[in-house]
Amino acid sequence: MTFVVRSVEPQTEGAKAFLAKRRKQLFIGGAWIDAAGGDTFATKDPATGVVLAEIAKGGAADVDAAVAAARKAFEGGEWPGLTPMQRSRLLWTLADLIEANIDELAELETLDQGKPLYVGRWAEIPGAVNQFRYYAGLATAIEGRTIDSSINYQPAGKQMASWTLREPVGVVAAIVPWNSPLVLTAMKLAPALAAGCTVVLKPAEDTSLTAVRLAELVQQAGFPAGVLNLVTGLGGEAGAALASHQDVDKVAFTGSTPTGRAILDAAKGNLKKVSLELGGKSPVVILPDADLDLAIPGAANAIFFNAGQVCVAGSRLYAHRSVYDRVVEGVAAQARGLQLGHGLDPATHMGPLVSRKQADRVAGFVAGAAAAGAEVLTGGQQGGDEGTFVTPAVVARVTPDMAIVREEVFGPVVVVQAYDEIDEVVAAANDSEFGLAASIWTESLSHAHRLSRRIKAGTVWINCHSMYDNALPIGGVKASGWGRDSGQVALDGYLEWKTVCAVV
Ligand code: NAD
Repeated sequence: MTFVVRSVEPQTEGAKAFLAKRRKQLFIGGAWIDAAGGDTFATKDPATGVVLAEIAKGGAADVDAAVAAARKAFEGGEWPGLTPMQRSRLLWTLADLIEANIDELAELETLDQGKPLYVGRWAEIPGAVNQFRYYAGLATAIEGRTIDSSINYQPAGKQMASWTLREPVGVVAAIVPWNSPLVLTAMKLAPALAAGCTVVLKPAEDTSLTAVRLAELVQQAGFPAGVLNLVTGLGGEAGAALASHQDVDKVAFTGSTPTGRAILDAAKGNLKKVSLELGGKSPVVILPDADLDLAIPGAANAIFFNAGQVCVAGSRLYAHRSVYDRVVEGVAAQARGLQLGHGLDPATHMGPLVSRKQADRVAGFVAGAAAAGAEVLTGGQQGGDEGTFVTPAVVARVTPDMAIVREEVFGPVVVVQAYDEIDEVVAAANDSEFGLAASIWTESLSHAHRLSRRIKAGTVWINCHSMYDNALPIGGVKASGWGRDSGQVALDGYLEWKTVCAVV
């Protein structure tokens, strides 16, 4: 694949001004500072290779300082004394600031990550705004319980009384990936702050820009110093130091399953709480009675949106044999019709992958499958000036043992398989170490209802895919993780139960 990617300049004054200041610092204890070692690393536009900024490369000493600042803000000063309504107001103010800067943030996300502008502008940045508004509401709805105990102890003239308190977990390390940087950060930050925790944020090394801008907006919103601290840097350095830190109370992680395992190991020192939103290999199951006018574009969008760099991407497509040819031809036609280009170019449907490394990996899966006997109906070609583009791929004649069927590719690559019986497709859909999400496409309420119970996944969509909402819990079973982001249940993950039992 050869095409030249035209470099496109950001349009907003905000993005231009933000990028004009080339050197990005850490945000610790309310102050912007260089990394202790003075090191930086370059963050690039993946479409063009143009260096966008130099990012502070935080290490263990910076993590120590950030955790100390977060601890100080958690234990004393203004933050623990705020009422829930005051925390709520701060969260709402932050949401307003993100919304006021939405065009700038969307441009920065596109430049840093590669995604088409519309993805950030209309889906992800509004999603981040909604996260902060949703948890602004929940900050004022945190409740313990009164409990009638049966304790057989009652001094004369006294009564037993018992109740529970909900208290913030403490210092939270939020470690997030590069595929949807700002909204995934909001999914950690909003419930943590609503609960009254303080946070040290470690964004992915490939996409630090919107995290830096977010920290500026947190400062502008008026959060007390130390409530949010930002340590940019490498996973194996800053990330590992945070995961193993003895004074961090919880790690809230989104990322790959191998890194999730490393974080679990690192967390055992002080038995910190861990929540893990990990990888997926989500099945898309098309029944014979599906509305194919809905299902075919739906299945294509399930895998090609954000160039497949979506944890819930529908990367395994199972179509009933009676509709298989139509579905496969339809999805392949959709793939061929996608315009690749720079994310800031309005004509672009699909941008590059986040890095050359990721593009090599994704194209390697397709080439490996072809070598093992699979049929590549379309796509899988790597190209662009920087080699970061991969054309959307549809791969048929796969076998269940192939790497492309079993492993998370995290790119625009779908494997298609035919089935005859419902039991057969349930077994195939569940034949994965992952259990993040699935979608079922059918006009039969009965089939939809029953299949949704049989597929092992944290989320099942019916006649749709990748539908996110701040109120809907998202997360996985099996190797897709522990815990949930979004919804009321996510707030629980940042709260402890304290039982108080009294003679009164
Ligand atoms: P990754 O695991 O490589 O990195 C994620 C984050 O962890 C980054 O900030 C990285 O710097 C940090 N990190 C790396 N090594 C570390 C270590 N040893 N200790 C502590 N931190 C470390 O993941 P990625 O490649 O950035 O993101 C893609 C992955 O994220 C995919 O597997 C995808 O499925 C997953 N993801 C999951 C969800 C979900 O909700 N389940 C959402 C989005 C992405």
